[in-house]
Amino acid sequence: QAVCVGPPQSKESYLSIANIVSAAAITGAEAIHPGYGFLAENSSFAEVCAQVKIKFIGPSPAVIDAMGNKASARDRMRAAKVPIIPGTSAIRDEREAQEAAKEIGFPLIIKASAGGGGKGMRVVEKADELLSQLASARAEAEAAFGDGEVYIEKYLSEPRHIEVQILADEHGEVVHLGERDCSVQTARHQKMLEESPCAFLPEKTRKALGEAAVRGARAVGYQNAGTIEFLVAPGGEFYFMEMNTRIQVEHPVTEMVSGVDLVKEQLRVASGEPLSLRQKDIALTGHAIECRLTAEDPSRNFAPASGRITRFDWPGGMGVRVDSHVRAGYFVPPYYDSLLAKILVHAPTRDEAIARMQRALGETRLEGVATTLPFHQKILANEYFQRGELSTDFLARRMTDED
Ligand code: ADP
Repeated sequence: QAVCVGPPQSKESYLSIANIVSAAAITGAEAIHPGYGFLAENSSFAEVCAQVKIKFIGPSPAVIDAMGNKASARDRMRAAKVPIIPGTSAIRDEREAQEAAKEIGFPLIIKASAGGGGKGMRVVEKADELLSQLASARAEAEAAFGDGEVYIEKYLSEPRHIEVQILADEHGEVVHLGERDCSVQTARHQKMLEESPCAFLPEKTRKALGEAAVRGARAVGYQNAGTIEFLVAPGGEFYFMEMNTRIQVEHPVTEMVSGVDLVKEQLRVASGEPLSLRQKDIALTGHAIECRLTAEDPSRNFAPASGRITRFDWPGGMGVRVDSHVRAGYFVPPYYDSLLAKILVHAPTRDEAIARMQRALGETRLEGVATTLPFHQKILANEYFQRGELSTDFLARRMTDED
């Protein structure tokens, strides 16, 4: 059953707490699943839901606040003995930034405490750029989040972005479902392709990451599904980066290797039931890859594209999953995130998963708007990708225009 929540501009619809709560009241909904955008990490929304006795499917408002502010999340994780990226708490003024920079060294990265979507993030290569970048990071954070608070971290070179999926119920049980490697990112640090497991992680590191994620989640009294993101250095050391207090876009890769329906577990937890599984029951099999098909033009620096889809033939067959809301005739509006479809494959090994994805993308036809489909095909054919030599600068370093 669909309910109109307002005009296209998200401020007046999907971001309007009053409109969303009214839609729930009209339909008699007992709970709201906030998805992965808009109000999904908004503690005021979770608070309003509690007040009107509609269950918010996610953690408590206090936990959303504690982990939503990245500077405070770092402080909480440090206290829980989860290794964090060397850096500061919230920076108060220019002098503090200069002192921190002296201690951390260059390159460093300035990040917005309220950050998300790569906004308010600035890499600083040398000392004389520090203050101007500090000002522009603050201004961007203020404009995007209404909160100009920033902190500083050491900028790690050639790390992998590895994140751990966790599930926690309201009875104190916390489990993890392994990791996802999200190192294939655009220049603006947006994820393009994710896989699980990270086939190149030593077993010792994998185990330590899972334990650290569970320890961190337990320490903050986490409930429901969440993701703890880490950067893993080439030497295997890992550092907490941030936590997403919601289900993520890339959660299906974990569903494919674990056989666990994460959204179903979210609903169980929100109903007050215990998780249906214990850590010892969780076994990951094979390898899964997700390609995020977005309405973006890779030849124009991934500028978002809008328009009517004239044809959409999606792939099928063994080990293929497509999550999408679009069809032929669908108009891609200019107002929202450009994600059109997630194309996923599962196979016994990484090599077979790559071959299966190449076949699946080869079968996909999406016409009428520019998409990242041809770009994904190039990634899959790239030798470094195939060998698994990945780091967050993979696209910038290994996929130049000549490729
Ligand atoms: P956002 O929430 O805005 O997406 P994140 O904190 O998740 O920002 O960081 C996004 C990406 O930026 C990471 O996956 C990584 O590629 C890069 N990044 C962030 N912090 C660092 C760091 N300290 N060193 C190197 N790369 C970083």
